Amino acid sequence: MSNDITLAEVKNRLEQLRGKGRILLMTHERPDGDAVGSLCGMYFILRENGFFVDALIPESVPDMYQDFVPSGLITSITTLGVGCYSLLITLDASTRMRVSAPCIREDGIAIPCLNIDHHPDNERYGDASYVVSTACSTAEIVLSIAKAANLMISPVSATLLLLGITTDSGCFRFDNTTPEALRAAARLLELGADRRHIIRNCFLSKPENMARFEAELLCSRMKKEFGGKFAWFYLDPELLKKYEVDLRNTEQVIESLRAIDGVVVAAVIRKEKEGFKVSLRSKAKQISVGRIARRLNGGGHEMAAGCSISAPTIEEAEKILANNVEMELNEK
Ligand code: AMP
Ligand code: MN
Ligand code: MN
Repeated sequence: MSNDITLAEVKNRLEQLRGKGRILLMTHERPDGDAVGSLCGMYFILRENGFFVDALIPESVPDMYQDFVPSGLITSITTLGVGCYSLLITLDASTRMRVSAPCIREDGIAIPCLNIDHHPDNERYGDASYVVSTACSTAEIVLSIAKAANLMISPVSATLLLLGITTDSGCFRFDNTTPEALRAAARLLELGADRRHIIRNCFLSKPENMARFEAELLCSRMKKEFGGKFAWFYLDPELLKKYEVDLRNTEQVIESLRAIDGVVVAAVIRKEKEGFKVSLRSKAKQISVGRIARRLNGGGHEMAAGCSISAPTIEEAEKILANNVEMELNEK
């Protein structure tokens, strides 16, 4: 059932809490640039405009985003602790399961929850949802809320929102680079966002061990199927160990696969405690990796999606994945 509310209603709900009730912000597990940017950006904006607010940052923020995370955020919360908040706002989290606090998952959400997101398959969990699937990032939505509510945006907040927009649009390369996304970015630059810092950290530099790891992946670990239309890497724990690479820093390795001519679907498979986590990217509008992920009980966007596969071995997980990719390729 839809619990969608309008921008005006989002604004009203916030206004009622200014200087009164405490707000808790959360985002999805395995946070990406938009999760960090929209969470921390919203945190600063609310704080700097007279709201009482806490933000819960998941562990495992990739190194390249660490600089942007302010000190003083909370890193865990108990079910009991949630009780002191008047409102929970989740950002960039399409399902309740992806929200990064165990107390929220196990016991349901005990306090009113406003779900702010841009994933088209958002489950509309919580009491109210503000989902704008045409937005390039949740950070873009946070900017529109701040504008509607006439909230002051400092250069620090502007940098965080620009981080979300820049990373979710692949540095303004992906199809979600809409006129609206570019206008939002322009506005944030006018507000003093530090574009240079974002580009340097997230796009122009990487540790040498990561560069070498990616080189070995490409040279000797790439697998291909269906005449090269499907290519994938399995991030073998033994290889990660060899290059001292932490899984949380591997978000971008999928881009070197997607860039290869002829590749239509790219995947990166990571070993999890149970089973395997799959990241998927498409390069053709008519091939939806969102559809592939949803068939495997995951989700995401049409061109970028993810899922988990429970299988006893990597070979079996690869077979399940390849079958589902083949189905999508054959349908088109
Ligand atoms: P990732 O490959 O983890 O960067 O995720 C790509 C996109 O798919 C992001 O928008 C995620 O929010 C979404 N996504 C990834 N894994 C899942 C999942 N298990 N369920 C739903 N959405 C997912
Ligand atoms: Mn995200
Ligand atoms: Mn996002």
